[in-house]
Amino acid sequence: MENRGDPAAPVLQELWEWVRAGQEEVLRSPHLAACCAFLTHVLLCAPFFALDALGRVCERVRMWRIAAGSGPPPSLRRWSECFCRVLFRYLTAVLPAATLLQLLRSPELPEWAPSCWQLFVEVVACFLLFDMLFFLWHYLLHRIPWLYRNVHQMHHQHHVPFALAAQDASSAELLSLLLLALSSAWALDCHPLSETLFHLLNSWLAVEDHCGYNLPWALHRLLPFLGGAPHHQAHHSQQSSNYAPYFTHWDHLCGTYHS
Ligand SMILES: [Zn+2]
Ligand SMILES: [Zn+2]
Repeated sequence: MENRGDPAAPVLQELWEWVRAGQEEVLRSPHLAACCAFLTHVLLCAPFFALDALGRVCERVRMWRIAAGSGPPPSLRRWSECFCRVLFRYLTAVLPAATLLQLLRSPELPEWAPSCWQLFVEVVACFLLFDMLFFLWHYLLHRIPWLYRNVHQMHHQHHVPFALAAQDASSAELLSLLLLALSSAWALDCHPLSETLFHLLNSWLAVEDHCGYNLPWALHRLLPFLGGAPHHQAHHSQQSSNYAPYFTHWDHLCGTYHS
């Protein structure tokens, strides 16, 4: 899917030229990807942090929480303990690994931006591939006891997850998910803009999956092929269904779907 430019995408071309002209050194920084991933995750969690705080005093917000024993929103203490764990694992595992991968890869920045259509197709293709790889890996994490105990069990300490818990996993699991996301974009030879958009949306969907709320404006209400937070929360409480992170077709096909 290597881009060869499209004059019909002047907005993207302007954006891309601005990025290449002024930010090339920053983009080539080996630490950029991991730092951005951490900051993006924290920023995307911020609205849910506010929602959880509001939910402690506002009945209407609590009504949006996913039923079936969700209980009250997580406390400030639970948020801060989770933040420290995620920060520690990013500093000790994700940052060194992402830096090494970036140094080995030394990405080239093409002259042309992708067309809007190319951007859309590449991002959707990345999600479909990532969703399939995640489904297979997640299924194995649950079916092989050694893998579950040593890699995945830590993430399942949250029977009722909350936004920040999307990245609250063992170092091995965080590294495996990083590899799955990066290899999905690399296998499809995406344009760097498509790859960046995929990683941003991937962070957002992971946060939304774990947020604990079935919000009226949630994406899965608009796009029924997405499972959303109810789908993933059912996985956290039952652990024997809903292995795919975003789409539901693999769980339907393999008989592991639970509504
Ligand atoms: Zn989860
Ligand atoms: Zn699981």
